[in-house]
Amino acid sequence: MTTEVRIVGQGLAGSLLGWSCERAGIPFTIEDPWPDSAQNSRLNVPASSVGAGIINPITGQRLVKSWRVDALLPVAIEMYQEIGDTVGQPFLFPYRLRRFFADQRERAVAREKWPRGDFAGFGKSLDDDGLWIEPAFRVDLSGLVVALRKRWQESGHWRTIELPGTSLAGGAGLTVQCIGSGELGQGVFNWAGLTSAKGELLEIETAAGAFDPQVILNRREWLVPLSASRALVGATVEPGVAANLPTEQARVSLEQAAAQLLGAAPFRTVSQRAGVRVIAPDKHPVIGRHPKKNSLGIFNALGSKGALLAPWLAQEWIAHLQSGRPVDPAVEVARFWPARPGMS
Ligand SMILES: Cc1cc2nc3c(=O)[nH]c(=O)nc-3n(C[C@H](O)[C@H](O)[C@H](O)COP(=O)(O)OP(=O)(O)OC[C@H]3O[C@@H](n4cnc5c(N)ncnc54)[C@H](O)[C@@H]3O)c2cc1C
Repeated sequence: MTTEVRIVGQGLAGSLLGWSCERAGIPFTIEDPWPDSAQNSRLNVPASSVGAGIINPITGQRLVKSWRVDALLPVAIEMYQEIGDTVGQPFLFPYRLRRFFADQRERAVAREKWPRGDFAGFGKSLDDDGLWIEPAFRVDLSGLVVALRKRWQESGHWRTIELPGTSLAGGAGLTVQCIGSGELGQGVFNWAGLTSAKGELLEIETAAGAFDPQVILNRREWLVPLSASRALVGATVEPGVAANLPTEQARVSLEQAAAQLLGAAPFRTVSQRAGVRVIAPDKHPVIGRHPKKNSLGIFNALGSKGALLAPWLAQEWIAHLQSGRPVDPAVEVARFWPARPGMS
């Protein structure tokens, strides 16, 4: 029989690991310090309550396809649709994405890459102002976490963890830490060298017609519609910053970005959110067992691409639990071992 899995932390990572255990018939429990869904009112805001959940297949100033997107996207689509069908609430929303060139250099990069087929599967057209990219998606990360929390509270899989006090390193079988920026710089996986990058975004309101509700706009910053008149605008990136309180400076800079993306259309800021992304030294996520403590595992470092990465990572965990198959070395936490002296 497969070992019972104790999942500690229920953001996106914990949610999808729990979901995948449930589907695979692997016994599991899931714990988090906060049993309710009023997640934005507390100081330690999980990234999954903040993140916009955009899946953009072509990103960055060099306009590169997201890492393994061709293989990972079908896995993500299937998992989010399956969860939505099961709980009776959609979490995955398709869009087209208009990627404007921020400068002459980006235009030149696109013109060089387009004929080579570098955007194959996602680049729909190229013109002087930018690229049309399709498909792109938004995943309602916080809605998904809240819905699965309710499901598991009702089914008895869910427990409230006491902090401080409860050990994150014990359990009958395997304990997998899915704690995002919790305990960053401390704890049993400290040697992996995970770091933080604070991010902020705004929710804005406009008159209907100010943007196409089916289109994500992107020029360095992005605007993702939530409805005909509401949108999220983001996001700032502050490497090394672990605070998650919104700042005036970020609001001003995101309002400038919104004004640029919307042209002349007026808007008002409805709310502002800040959270912390977790990033590994090589920018890839981390999963797998502790090299010395076999009953401890991790699922973290989703960076800015948790919505795309987490479904496949959850599947990697399940394949490992079911057959003992090692997880993909590109994401295995053990790639950062041996540790720096004095760490274990
Ligand atoms: C501004 C911003 C914009 C973003 N936009 C996007 C985007 O467009 N697309 C995208 O894919 N990603 C985006 N992200 C990233 C995305 O939000 C994250 O990759 C993802 O939500 C991380 O999920 P997680 O489960 O690893 O961590 P979290 O969501 O932080 O969850 C960690 C969980 O662990 C719990 N926890 C913490 N400490 C402890 C502890 N000591 N013990 C037990 N439990 C604990 C917390 O309560 C929480 O529930 C964005 C992030 C930010 C900040």
